[in-house]
Amino acid sequence: MATIVSHAVVALAIGKALSTGKEARKYYLAGALCAIMPDADAVGYWLGVPYNSLFGHRGFTHSFFFAVLLATIMMTIFFAKNKFMSGAYLRIWCYFFLATAMHPVVDAMTSGGLGVAFFSPFSNHRYFFPFRPIRVCSIGFGDLFSHRGVVIFASEFLWLWVPAGVVAGIASLLTKKNVN
Ligand SMILES: [Zn+2]
Repeated sequence: MATIVSHAVVALAIGKALSTGKEARKYYLAGALCAIMPDADAVGYWLGVPYNSLFGHRGFTHSFFFAVLLATIMMTIFFAKNKFMSGAYLRIWCYFFLATAMHPVVDAMTSGGLGVAFFSPFSNHRYFFPFRPIRVCSIGFGDLFSHRGVVIFASEFLWLWVPAGVVAGIASLLTKKNVN
């Protein structure tokens, strides 16, 4: 896993890119939750669920199918007033889907662990991208308070926070232009 804070940062940048500039705080909060939720499978890992099984770490909760489910659930919880399949509904749904789906995409660019089951539950094959510059953070927080933690954070900063900042910056410039 990359650290959950970095996953949330990626989601906030996507949220900014898809925003109209008038979103309530819950829009960003729910998007950050979407980005963090896939790592709820760490609970199973601690309870002894085998890493490479369907519900193992980076299994079902790291699939695109899970992203579809979670985006729909988050819409029901946070944006129930938006008419189903209306333009506003679809825009926010896409944001929640991308915020969730970017989590496994980022994990597939990390340097360790097993790959990501993008197509679970239909296939439990684990994928990695050929380009994996992000240093992996072990499950739990032990790594973060050591020298390794500094190395992990530096790689996440470079490969996640900087691109996220650029995307959010460009998006806010464009939104300002549209509002003016
Ligand atoms: Zn993960």
